Amino acid sequence: MLDDILNKEDLSKEEIITLLSLDNKNDQQKLFDRANELRLLYCGEEVHLRGIIEISNICEQNCVYCGLRADNKKLERYRMTPEEIIETAKNISNLGIFTIVLQSGEDCHFDSDIISYLIYQIKQKANVAITLSLGERTFEEYRTWKIAGADRYLLKHETANKLLYEKYHFKQQLSERLEHLKFLKSIGYQIGSGSMIGLPMQTIEDIADDILLCKTLDLDMAAFGPFISSPDTPYQNFNSGSAELTLKTMAVARIVLKKVHIPATTALDTIDSIGREKGLSAGANVVMPDLTPFPYRSNYQIYPNKRGSLDDPTVSTASLQKRIEALGRKISSKRGDSLKMDFEHTV
Ligand code: SF4
Repeated sequence: MLDDILNKEDLSKEEIITLLSLDNKNDQQKLFDRANELRLLYCGEEVHLRGIIEISNICEQNCVYCGLRADNKKLERYRMTPEEIIETAKNISNLGIFTIVLQSGEDCHFDSDIISYLIYQIKQKANVAITLSLGERTFEEYRTWKIAGADRYLLKHETANKLLYEKYHFKQQLSERLEHLKFLKSIGYQIGSGSMIGLPMQTIEDIADDILLCKTLDLDMAAFGPFISSPDTPYQNFNSGSAELTLKTMAVARIVLKKVHIPATTALDTIDSIGREKGLSAGANVVMPDLTPFPYRSNYQIYPNKRGSLDDPTVSTASLQKRIEALGRKISSKRGDSLKMDFEHTV
């Protein structure tokens, strides 16, 4: 029965729940192997690196699980200057990484003009794709940044359960987040979204809905990372999510979503010492190293003890490359655009 489900073209919600509920290690390995086979079929052996620059840890929102939430007064806040950001982007492209991710909390200081300036300057100096991960912003801003040259937008939905979404986010609504993702796609962004695994009150049914929502949104990248409880947040005393359930979710997502980029997240690597290797062997084809420079990198504390946050970014990238190559995989020298776009271009 397991083999039948693993080889089906389309999975029902019940079948997704069956796979997510596998608790026998041999069955789980079958799931990971099938996801790995499909990753090879749809994405090949190459691993795409996306270099993240955390440009500001200031945020106007108050998501209950996040260490950057506005009410966390214990965190030392920072904003990088435009010059620092442009210089970091140039250094990242010199490392042979061809996607720059500009990431921050919802910080309106980085307005339409500043972000447009950064996109223009980075594109002048480096041949890279630019992903923006700046939270929910206005539709006008999204449009302006697309015209300025942004390629992709990453906006995680975090949970497909409307009631849980409202519990986690207070002011924000799931319907609004989905409208933003649809708008971003409609104006030509490659879009990334995804959810957190192991959030308080979340069920296996919710995770199945997360995967199905990613399918409905026709994502170019789907990211699933474990919830890690963060001090000085309302959820500080909850248990963190597990690496096992996160890996099962990634594997099922590969089987359901097929031609999509899936990262082996830093959060997974934080809760499991070989989380990246396990993720890359369970359907993932992307790694997103944090290349924020000192002194800022240790203060982007969405969750505590982020793997590598005290390491020199250049040294940690070299060690990451070795870990990927030790799996027999190759680091891509391309931008790693949407697999769906590549497909459309070849037909
Ligand atoms: S998850 Fe994002 S929007 Fe929410 S508090 Fe953290 S940085 Fe801000």
